[in-house]
Amino acid sequence: MRFKILISIITCFTFLFTAAQTDDGRKSHIKITKVKDEIYMLQGKGGNIGLSFGDDGIFMIDDQFEDITELILEDIKKISEKPIQFLVNTHHHGDHTGGNANMAKTGTTIIAHENVRSRISEAMNSALEKATTANGKPEGVDPQMLPTITFSEDMTFYYNGEKIMVFHVHDAHTDGDVIVYFTESNVIHTGDVFFEGKYPYIDTASGGTLLGYMEALQKIMMLADDETKIIPGHGSIASKKDLRFTKDMLGLLYKRVTHHYMNLRTEDEITSMRDFTKLYDDKGFGDGFISTEKMLQIIYNEVKRERGVIDVRDMNERLREKFRQQKEAREKREKNG
Ligand SMILES: [Zn+2]
Repeated sequence: MRFKILISIITCFTFLFTAAQTDDGRKSHIKITKVKDEIYMLQGKGGNIGLSFGDDGIFMIDDQFEDITELILEDIKKISEKPIQFLVNTHHHGDHTGGNANMAKTGTTIIAHENVRSRISEAMNSALEKATTANGKPEGVDPQMLPTITFSEDMTFYYNGEKIMVFHVHDAHTDGDVIVYFTESNVIHTGDVFFEGKYPYIDTASGGTLLGYMEALQKIMMLADDETKIIPGHGSIASKKDLRFTKDMLGLLYKRVTHHYMNLRTEDEITSMRDFTKLYDDKGFGDGFISTEKMLQIIYNEVKRERGVIDVRDMNERLREKFRQQKEAREKREKNG
């Protein structure tokens, strides 16, 4: 039984780049971009990796997939031979944590929010359980995948000459998201709390919520200024302006879906509406992992959860019912009294 639970959604996130041959003939799909100062972004397949190089060593954010670790490490070595001392997981999804066990074996310390460790651990246990029931061998389940340091709210590193703030944002993309802020370089890695130029994925089965997602974007906007370079979970290096665009987009979609929901439009009707998504669809927002329809579905379900079932009876009927109930209660009191 292969360890598929963690990586259930990840293949859809795979972004490939022009293949380049390595010295020994293997294919490499890795692209490293300098973000600012000694901060770099590495793209391969899976979530964007953030890297800080300096005298202290290497500080890494996320590690993509198990099968690409070797190539990633080779490319990092081209910039610095220093050890990768710390690795922060921005959340538990397999396209951001798949290389954890490989990284731990090289001596890297893995740090994450406590819910990330719980979710990876749960997935490992369930894979083991299934393998035992099927009398199979649980391949790929390695306890070294687990972060060895966890925290509940935030954590600060003083590393490579700057203060690096790692803080938790609640119930956003998942329930274990963290944002990493390089305060001197003025670079922010958002994890999947921001998809540049695409509709975001909100993993409601793992505690993600739309309102939490919008709040998290607001939090990042409060830290960022016009010079800040933003490394998104997926997509290209972005600015505060791009982040604001996504936040406003979600706010508008939320408002429109709520309006139609309150006006008793059905899920099918709402998810096929395109008038208020057109501006974003034309920019290619729905061409990623989350289509326009899927985005509207996520928002519809959130609105439904918040608002509950709308009482469709007309106002007079509801008033008549209320009077009837009051009359009955009065009569009951008089009878008993
Ligand atoms: Zn994710």
